[in-house]
Amino acid sequence: MIDRFRAVMADLEPDWRALRSSATEAAASAYAPYSHFPVGAAGLTANGIVISGCNVENASFGLTLCAECGLASALRRAGETTLVAVSVTDPAGRLLTPCGRCRQVLLEHGGPDMLIDAEPEPQRLGALLPGAFDADELGAHSTDAATTED
Ligand SMILES: [Zn+2]
Repeated sequence: MIDRFRAVMADLEPDWRALRSSATEAAASAYAPYSHFPVGAAGLTANGIVISGCNVENASFGLTLCAECGLASALRRAGETTLVAVSVTDPAGRLLTPCGRCRQVLLEHGGPDMLIDAEPEPQRLGALLPGAFDADELGAHSTDAATTED
């Protein structure tokens, strides 16, 4: 799986400006009545498609969905499977870093070589989430050898 991501990354050079712009546009759709902190996330898929999501808060704060969660949902809804680059911004276009939970969510959809928009340069997700728990962990420790593919 990691080799597949590396092959994809070698073929795609993300247009970071366009990705940030898409994230900023998505932030305008955020539902953030409690924090007043709208966030947008945009991702480039392995097929060169840009998709985006926004945060959706809830009065029960623990149920709040970050923009990256919306991005993962939109990825699946678009029939895509792999993100290669992600940018997260506020409505003014200022870069934000994915929270810990979202780093884990993004890992599932792009692996450790996914690039996360950052200054002064994009960072590999694997550097932001070292020692991540992933599907390999499930296989390594599961007493049930059954696996699923999507
Ligand atoms: Zn998050």
